[in-house]
Amino acid sequence: MLNDTQKKYLRELTQLNGIAGQENEVARYLKNEFDTRRLTYVTDNLGSIFALKKSKMTNPFKVMVAGHMDEVGLIVIEILEHGLIKGHAVGGLNTLALTSQRVLLRTKSGSYIQGTIDATPPHLLKDTEQKVPEVKNLLFDFGFSSKQDALDAGVYIGAMMVVWGPFVELNGGRRLMSKAFDNRYGLALGLDLLDELNDVELPFDLYIGGTVQEEVGLRGATTAAHMISPDVAIVLDCSPARDSSGDKTQWGQLGGGVLLRYIDGSMIAYKPFLDFQASCALEAGVKSQYFDSPGGTDAGAIHRNKDGVLTLTHCICARSIHTNSSIIDVEDYSAAKKTLLLMLQKCDRSLIDTLMVARR
Ligand SMILES: [Zn+2]
Repeated sequence: MLNDTQKKYLRELTQLNGIAGQENEVARYLKNEFDTRRLTYVTDNLGSIFALKKSKMTNPFKVMVAGHMDEVGLIVIEILEHGLIKGHAVGGLNTLALTSQRVLLRTKSGSYIQGTIDATPPHLLKDTEQKVPEVKNLLFDFGFSSKQDALDAGVYIGAMMVVWGPFVELNGGRRLMSKAFDNRYGLALGLDLLDELNDVELPFDLYIGGTVQEEVGLRGATTAAHMISPDVAIVLDCSPARDSSGDKTQWGQLGGGVLLRYIDGSMIAYKPFLDFQASCALEAGVKSQYFDSPGGTDAGAIHRNKDGVLTLTHCICARSIHTNSSIIDVEDYSAAKKTLLLMLQKCDRSLIDTLMVARR
C-alpha cells in the first residue's frame, strides 16, 4: 500500500492539467517541490525541468530520470456563433470515451470553467451515422448561448481543454483511478525517489524531472537530453495494460509489477541493461513482467542523443490510458520504486563500463 505522501503526489499531480505545449502548471508544481528540497534545477527552452542532486565525487557521470509532464487533451479551435466550441486533439485521445464527459477549459485568466462534450441520444442516431465520433465533429458545451458569451468568459483559440477525471481510491486503496496516470506516475515516482535519496551519497549527478510534449512526438525529451547530456537515462512512463479480458497470457497485467519493456516503436532495450533491471526487481523481492508496445516513450529520443545514451524505460501499466478513468495497481508503483532505488544504488562507473564494453 502507498503512504500518504505517495498518494498526495499522485493525487495532486494527476489533478493538475497540462496538455502538450501547456505544461506550466505541472512544471510549477515540480519547481516548488525542488525549491522545498533546496535542490537546484535546470530547464530547457521548451519548458522541461529537472532537479539536480549533485555528487560529491570528482568528475561524476550523469544519470537522467525523466517522466513526461504532458497529458492528452484538446485545444479550442473554433467558437461557433451559438456558443458551442470545436476542438482539436493534442495527443492520442480515445475518442470512444469522450461524448458526455465533463470537460475543464482553462480561460485567458488561468481559471477553469466546466462543460461537457455534446452527445446525441441513441434514438436520434441514424443507422448510417458513425458510432465512433471524430474529434472534429465533437461540440463542447460550456453553457454559452453565443460566441460573445464565450469570449466574455475568457475562452480563446488555443485554450486548453482536458476531460475531467478525479482521483479515486478503489478496492480499499489497492487500485487508483484518475486521469493522467500517463504520466504523472513518472513525476510522482521522481519526487518519491528524491525523498528516499535525500541523505544518500551517489557516485553520479542525478537529474530527476519532467519533459514537455511527449504525447506529440518526444519533443521535450530531445531538447532536455541535449541540455543534460546524460551517460545513463531511465524513462518513467505509464503503458497500456492488456489484461482487462482476464487473459493471463497477455502482457501488461495490472499487479504484475514493473514493466521490462524490451522493445517498442521507438527503442530496442539493450539486453544486458534490461537483465540488470530484472535482477534488481528480483533482488528487491518485487514482481516484474516483460512488455512490448507499438508505441514509444521519451526513451526513443533520449537514447539517440549525441552519440547514444544507455537508456531504459521503467514503466508500470494502467487500464484505460489516454482516458479520464485510467486505473493503476499500487503494488506496481511500489515494485517500480523498489527496483529503481536498487538500480540507482548499484549504478557506478564499473557497471556502466561493463555494459558499454559488452555492447562493442
Ligand atoms: Zn506516456
